[in-house]
Amino acid sequence: MNKITNHMPTAELQRLDAAHHLHPFTDHGALREKGVRVITGAEGVWLKDSEGHRILDGMAGLWCVNVGYGRDELAEAAYRQMKELPYYNTFFQTTHVPAIALSAKIAELAPGHLNHVFFASSGSEANDTNIRLVRHYWAQKGQPERQVIVARKNGYHGSSMGSASLGGMAAMHSQGGLPIPGIHHIDQPYWWGEGGEMSPEEFGIARARQLEEAIQRIGPDKVGAFIAEPVQGAGGVIVPPESYWPEIRRIVKEYGILLIADEVICGFGRTGEWFGSQGYGIEPDIMTIAKGLSSGYQPIGGSIVSDEVAETIAKDEFFHGYTYSGHPVACAVALENLRILEEEKIVERVRETTAPYLKKKWESLADHPLVGEATIRGMMASIALTPDKASRAKFASDPGTVGLICRERSFANDLVMRHVGDRMVISPPLVISQAEIDTLIERARIALDEAMEEIEAQGLMQAA
Ligand SMILES: *Cc1c(COP(=O)(O)O)cnc(C)c1O
Repeated sequence: MNKITNHMPTAELQRLDAAHHLHPFTDHGALREKGVRVITGAEGVWLKDSEGHRILDGMAGLWCVNVGYGRDELAEAAYRQMKELPYYNTFFQTTHVPAIALSAKIAELAPGHLNHVFFASSGSEANDTNIRLVRHYWAQKGQPERQVIVARKNGYHGSSMGSASLGGMAAMHSQGGLPIPGIHHIDQPYWWGEGGEMSPEEFGIARARQLEEAIQRIGPDKVGAFIAEPVQGAGGVIVPPESYWPEIRRIVKEYGILLIADEVICGFGRTGEWFGSQGYGIEPDIMTIAKGLSSGYQPIGGSIVSDEVAETIAKDEFFHGYTYSGHPVACAVALENLRILEEEKIVERVRETTAPYLKKKWESLADHPLVGEATIRGMMASIALTPDKASRAKFASDPGTVGLICRERSFANDLVMRHVGDRMVISPPLVISQAEIDTLIERARIALDEAMEEIEAQGLMQAA
């Protein structure tokens, strides 16, 4: 097998893939039966596959291709950096210009006292760093018993041992002995699915107060930090009630624990601000970043930490780091990506034009008989599928059965829309045009119509 190319027959590529490639988060039996889809190229918001389909990428890859595909500047930045200095580490009192420049740029963009960056190559690694950082921080403050980190059920923080432990995905915890000790989970602020008879505002307060109850139960001298996504992404684009974050802030301040905002999806324009925290008035001590930092063109992530946290951990050696922390090529590409976001005013355009337009169109889907709510924050949006809108009912079938049917109908209509259980989610490239948004909505509506037909034909339109 000397050369495998885009031009080989799809069936041959699929056979080789099935023979040798283990996919993340994939049921391999089901995949083999169906045949994997081979993506061969992309431009703007459009993917191309080996069968010649042009597919609208409503997910920006995995929530990350913020500036869209096919940006030559990013390829050239990588090329230039590889020629000049392809690799050097940042351990042991060395540095290089890409890491200096990117950390300075991130400090300039990040709010408040968040002025210091610890680099990683992914969101998972950055959150693993955060666990060690928080625990080391409290040890340095003379409170080494402050080990516990409170997180949320159905939160997503990555897939490594530490980050998946912070996450609250039951399926992930069911394998491999997760979570690790010292992580405590409270409920998510998911009003549509779990709010019962409460108003969204009452529910937001109630769910935030679970943090206070947890701190009191575990012991205020044992809790080191709370971690959450400003808006939950992988959990199903769950937009918290407006009352939630102010109450969380009050509790975090009152008990003096560190607040970690996981901005891996929300950061770099997704919510119409540079960071999701800004739109909610969240004032984190640490922010996790990845994904949109490089628009996915290079694997890079990091933890942005406050002056106070940086000073505290710098009192002693922090025995932590990755070979590729601050990788020069990844840093150079990320820096160029931030230049594009800034100079092309992409974040402003999202806030003022694109997101309001998408919001109007997306919310119009709420009139569809299968849709219980259509919710959106910036350029991340979701719909809850339901057999009965009025009672916010769930389906009687296994969670995800109906969502999967809808996703398949979406793919069949050349739109990538994901399902999380029976919620459908989108997170398109930030550069999507209004005409492309129109196409996205048209295809989503067709997918919903076709899904509805199939769900009814299979007798699945049953409330639990
Ligand atoms: C994707 C994601 C991560 C994990 O990032 P990886 O780069 O996949 O390791 C962490 N937090 C959030 C909020 C994410 O969406």
